[in-house]
Order: sequence, then C-alpha cells, then structure tokens
Amino acid sequence: MMALNRPATHLVDRLPEVRGSYSVEAPLSKYTWFRTGGPADVVYRPKDAEDLADFLRARPADVPVTVLGVGSNVLVRDGGIRGVVIRLGSAFAGIAIQDGQVTAGAGVQDLSVANACRDAGLAGLEFLSGIPGMIGGALRMNAGAYGREMSDAVIAVEALDETGRLRRLSNEAMGFVYRACRVPKDWIFLGAVLRGEAGDPATIAARIAEIQAARESTQPTRGRTGGSTFKNPPGEKAWALIERAGCRGMRRGGAMVSEKHCNFLINTGSATACDIERLGEAVRRRVHDETGIELEWEIQRMGDARPGRSPEPGAGQ
Ligand SMILES: Cc1cc2nc3c(=O)[nH]c(=O)nc-3n(C[C@H](O)[C@H](O)[C@H](O)COP(=O)(O)OP(=O)(O)OC[C@H]3O[C@@H](n4cnc5c(N)ncnc54)[C@H](O)[C@@H]3O)c2cc1C
Repeated sequence: MMALNRPATHLVDRLPEVRGSYSVEAPLSKYTWFRTGGPADVVYRPKDAEDLADFLRARPADVPVTVLGVGSNVLVRDGGIRGVVIRLGSAFAGIAIQDGQVTAGAGVQDLSVANACRDAGLAGLEFLSGIPGMIGGALRMNAGAYGREMSDAVIAVEALDETGRLRRLSNEAMGFVYRACRVPKDWIFLGAVLRGEAGDPATIAARIAEIQAARESTQPTRGRTGGSTFKNPPGEKAWALIERAGCRGMRRGGAMVSEKHCNFLINTGSATACDIERLGEAVRRRVHDETGIELEWEIQRMGDARPGRSPEPGAGQ
C-alpha cells in the first residue's frame, strides 16, 4: 500500500519494478517485539527469491538495504531506518524433511521447524522451540539455547549477496561465533539445511514442553522485549553481573530492566527506543563500574535516533 502524502520524489520512485510490494514511510514498531521504532523509508516484501535477486541487482547502489525477521532481537531507533527494509513472506516459509535433514526457508518460524521435526521423528532441533524468531534471524545470530545453537545443526545455507548473486555456504563458511556469524551484513539468507537424528516423536514433544515451561518460568516471554540484551562475557553470565550491579528493576522513561530476568529489557507500554537504549547504556556503565567488565550488546540496534534525542555517549552501533 502506498502512502498518499509522500514527497513528490521519494526513494520509492528510484527503485526497480518488482513483483512483490513496496510500502512507503512504513512504521516499523509493528514489526519489532519491543513495539518501538520509527518508519522505514520503504518496506519491500519480495514475491519470491527471484524477485528479491532481481531487486538487489537493479537497486541503485547508494540505497541501503536491511532485512528484518520478526524483530525479536532488534531495537529500531525512533527516527527509523533509511533505505529499504526487507521482510520475507510466505514464499520463504517452506519446510521439507528427508533423510535426517530439514530444509527450512529463512521466513519459517523457529517453532514451526521444531514442531515439524517432532512430527517427523527428527531429534536435535528442540532448542528452536524456545526462540521466537525466524530461521534467517537464527542464522544471522547463531541463535541457541539449552546447550545447542545453530552452528551445531547447520549443514548448508543459501543466501543472496548484495548484488543478488546466489551463494551457497557450508557450516564453516558461515563463520559462526557466539551469537553472530561472519557473513557480510548485507547478504540475505534464503534458507538452510539442518541436521537432525532419528528420534521418538513423544520424547521430542516432551523435550519441547520442558523447554517451553522452563522459558515461561524464567523469562518475560509475553512482554515487549528483545530477548537477551547483552552477550554473556567469557566465563560470566550477563544477568548475574547485572544483578550484582543492582540493576534489576531499573528504569528510564517507559523502559525497565525485567524483574523476572535481568538481562531482558522491557517496554512497559510507553517506552521509546531511546529510553530502551539509554537504559541499556546505563546498565552497561553500572556493570562496568561495579565489576570492571564491559558488556557487549547482543540486541542489534539499527536506524537513526530522532533528532535531538541521541542515545548516551558510548552507544555505538
Ligand atoms: C522472549 C525472547 C526470548 C529469546 N530467547 C532467545 C534464546 O534463547 N536464544 C537466542 O539465541 N535468542 C533468543 N532471543 C533472541 C531472538 O529471538 C533470536 O536472536 C532470533 O534468532 C532472532 O530472529 P528474528 O527473526 O526475530 O530476527 P530479527 O530480530 O528480526 O533480526 C536479528 C538480526 O538478524 C538479521 N536477519 C534477520 N533475517 C535475516 C535474513 N533472512 N538474512 C540475513 N539476516 C537476517 C537482522 O538484520 C538482524 O541483524 C529471544 C528473544 C525474545 C524476545
């Protein structure tokens, strides 16, 4: 849908014709778990992988591109994101299971992969049931829980590079590290082949139920949050350092450190992205003062601050 009150020449007028759809000045708050963030200049929903590749090939070189999954690990700043934000839809949401392997599109919910594997008697991917993102986000973040992460499961990945060329990556080529991978930021994952092992559906179902119950009791899973805010420093737990620094329940505007799990920040209802980022920076400072340890953001902060409301000093991208 096009907004009618856009300027006479808008970025969208410079973009190639696509079979998918463009929305201009599209609010991103509805696409992030925090429910904060300003608009994207343009949101593009590709019709399929070919449409996306054509778009990447033909777009003007100066137009930045950002891909979002379900926004469960991002903080979009209040001024929004310049350029084109890409959201993958149902054409990227296929799942196929064969010979102990699952092929999943980047737009499939992690939980759907875990459930499909359960139904097919494929064990080893139960950890995905507790991660509220899509496979594309899980690849980028090397998402993991309960002792397993994507790097343990990935056999191969398909991606489009910044020029729309199809790339096939082995597990090694992904360069997985803790909560990140070394694939260039502007490559877009299309899907992955993941490894499982033969298992009993009832046992897999019981493990999924166990994981979900553990999450419900320890995390604010129904809150407006971005998951773990900071990475665990080597040999430490971020939540324990935050607790030690006395930050549980700390607030900035409408943002609060969760009482339930203090490595989670919460939008209590009226928070801006700036409140959340300022709160995170205040936590980092206090932890550093108290323990000498520098916490590193796990949440991906993106976009522009609203003019005059820049995050606190030290709040780099
Ligand atoms: C309640 C809660 C619990 C969580 N628990 C866990 C947990 O246990 N373990 C864990 O690891 N994480 C956890 N997270 C964080 C988050 O769910 C994961 O990082 C998830 O993998 C992000 O997926 P997403 O689709 O939401 O990606 P987004 O948050 O939308 O994006 C995350 C990053 O991935 C990039 N990206 C998204 N899709 C693609 C694509 N197709 N190609 C290339 N890059 C892409 C984005 O540009 C961004 O840099 C939790 C979050 C919440 C809210």
